[in-house]
Amino acid sequence: MGKILFLSGAGLSAQSGISTFRDSGGLWEEHDVMEVCSVAGYAKNPSKVHSFYDKRRAELKDKEPNSAHKMIASLKNRFPNRVSVITQNVDNLLEKAGCKEPIHLHGELTHLRCLKCEQIFYHGYETQDKAVCKKCGSQNIRHHIVMFGEPAPMYKVLYEELEKTELLVCIGTSGEVIDVASMAMLTKDSILNNIEKIPKIDRYFKNLFTMPATEAAPLIKEYCLDFLKENL
Ligand SMILES: [Zn+2]
Repeated sequence: MGKILFLSGAGLSAQSGISTFRDSGGLWEEHDVMEVCSVAGYAKNPSKVHSFYDKRRAELKDKEPNSAHKMIASLKNRFPNRVSVITQNVDNLLEKAGCKEPIHLHGELTHLRCLKCEQIFYHGYETQDKAVCKKCGSQNIRHHIVMFGEPAPMYKVLYEELEKTELLVCIGTSGEVIDVASMAMLTKDSILNNIEKIPKIDRYFKNLFTMPATEAAPLIKEYCLDFLKENL
């Protein structure tokens, strides 16, 4: 039975107005990324890092999923045993679209982690200053986002899923953080959707949809439905 793995990145949420580090006028220009997203920066000035994520969390509250999030959610929910959803994004727009249990490789903005007992818990959109661990009561809490310089434990799950995958669908990921080109070589079929051509990655994929994610969504959906039908 053919299985599909969706792997999404910033391009999936861009049209929902989630700013990224890479956009012009984006977070790169407003912040020194190593100060707010690295282990060293966090050790130096934790409150600066907390306030950075407090702002990202507050911005997320009113953001809505777009048609590409909804397309992924509908396929995942209709074919729960044949479709897996893994994202690099830390927003919750797949969840808002109704997608059940997407795996977040880099953590989640709406969740916090207890530094005493390692419990991860839902916090929502508020600042984290008054957060208390729901398991042990500790106030020693941090953002639940993977920083540069620390391990990303969910990558293990990504590679396990990849072994079971026949159709890899990458949406809005430039391949700079995750080597999607190598992944495409491991699967029988593959789709890459990005807003612009990236020749060094594009050539490893069997199907290219070079357009915004919302424009590609109906085409990807049709391709996936055909694939699921033909690979029973
Ligand atoms: Zn705790």
